[in-house]
Amino acid sequence: MLPIDPSNEVAYSFVVFGASGRLALSRIFPALWQLYRDNRLPQATKIFTFCRTKLELKTFRIKCVPYMGLERDRDPILYNSFWSNVHCCDGQYDNPEHYANLTAAMVRQEKRHDMRFANRIFYLALPPVVFDQVTLNIARKCLSATGWNHVVLEKPFARNDITYKVYQTQLCQTFKESQIYMIDHYLSRQVIHNMFVLRFTNLIWADTWNNKHIAAIMISVKTELPVQARAEYFNQFGIIRDVMTNHMMQLVAMLAIEQPYSSNVEDMRDEKLKVLKQVLNVDMSDVLLGQYCNNGRESDPVKVGYTQHSYIPKDSLTPTFAMVVLHINSKRWRSVPFILRVGKALNETKTEVRVQYKSTDCNHSGSSSSIPNELVLRLSPREQLFMRMMQKRPGPHMCLRETELDLILRDRALPINYQALLLDIFAGNQMMFMRTDEQCEIWRIFSPVLAAIEYERTKPILYDFGSCGPMAAYEMAARHGFKFY
Ligand code: NDP
Repeated sequence: MLPIDPSNEVAYSFVVFGASGRLALSRIFPALWQLYRDNRLPQATKIFTFCRTKLELKTFRIKCVPYMGLERDRDPILYNSFWSNVHCCDGQYDNPEHYANLTAAMVRQEKRHDMRFANRIFYLALPPVVFDQVTLNIARKCLSATGWNHVVLEKPFARNDITYKVYQTQLCQTFKESQIYMIDHYLSRQVIHNMFVLRFTNLIWADTWNNKHIAAIMISVKTELPVQARAEYFNQFGIIRDVMTNHMMQLVAMLAIEQPYSSNVEDMRDEKLKVLKQVLNVDMSDVLLGQYCNNGRESDPVKVGYTQHSYIPKDSLTPTFAMVVLHINSKRWRSVPFILRVGKALNETKTEVRVQYKSTDCNHSGSSSSIPNELVLRLSPREQLFMRMMQKRPGPHMCLRETELDLILRDRALPINYQALLLDIFAGNQMMFMRTDEQCEIWRIFSPVLAAIEYERTKPILYDFGSCGPMAAYEMAARHGFKFY
């Protein structure tokens, strides 16, 4: 790991490719501003935009306003100072000369500060169609010879095992693994880090985190929102590729991982890879697909069915809901289903993991029945970590009631999501980023079933906009031993 250089002899250039896009405006620039405001960025950091759209700094700054938060008004001098470090470059992604211009702009800034070393970060906030040409041109024209170069990649990481092989080969021919940052913002969540510590440092979890005690694990990513921006991309990729093959599989790996040999990054990533290798290929019988519809409410302008959106083909079979049951062939996890559930246009917005323990034999006559312990890791709408437990209801009678053992750390002002990930990229810490071979394993697990779904034109079950999703999904989870309370 290369820590942020404290000697003030290093200049940092942070380049955002595709800066005119939604991700750059809504996530990357707000995070950079918040880090700058909190004095967490290295001192000599300059930010560069690169995209085809000719952006004037003034207009770009205005475009960012809705996402930057109220703090910008509290300290206008600091906010202006942040923008004085941003430089806009435009260019075509396939034109090497335009990359040379970008490099000239970086060098000008690096020289201005009279720094001996230059570290560069290249953030590809771009759709995958231009990925090849951009990585190639960066490698040819933009690399620093006096410091490190980190390239940051966003999902989707290809479409299947075959296209990923091409992606990975191209990437690894151009960059070393230590330069590649495949981003997954779920991994920046404190609740996930905390779960890792809970598991390995507390005997009550260390000893029960296995198939002897755990009945089933459910990971849910539910959103009330329908498909909005990036509809064309979504219709081509579908919800399994969009969410399961990256975010949700990272959660599976973090939940099922064995204790790494050390806290070294590669030991951690080796263990994640090991567990992914033990996940069996998904079988079609373990998949349920859904698509939201408006259930005959033609006149409702808000709750529009998926195929009624003007930009979606009327005969689209793209799933907007999926449940997939994974099986891990290891001594620890054999017979514990990992149930992955994801959906759009549902009744609530919530991302959580429920580790459901087996029931006890406890049977007090006259008492209300007990529910099994459940460890709940909630990532949104706010981070929560609690254990559902049973206790005696106060009073003369032996009655049970459910309670929650609350485990979350609320008292820390920690950098969140993109801020934490950007800091790691500056610090050269790859712990919370995927290694390229992990994604290879994930595509091995999902590609056959995705191909079968497309080949057979599997029809998704229609569910009502704003509902809990297809009822068949509840039945499927129950068949695998998950209990809903
Ligand atoms: P956009 O579709 O908004 O694209 C970003 C920029 O890329 C555009 O402003 C445009 O810039 C350029 N671009 C778009 N289409 C093409 C094309 N066909 N050929 C060349 N350039 C193109 O994407 P987002 O900003 O939403 O996302 C960027 C990347 O991050 C994508 O890969 C996306 O999948 C991923 N991502 C996005 C998330 C989000 O919340 N938005 C979440 C997670 C991942 P210009 O024309 O000015 O060059």
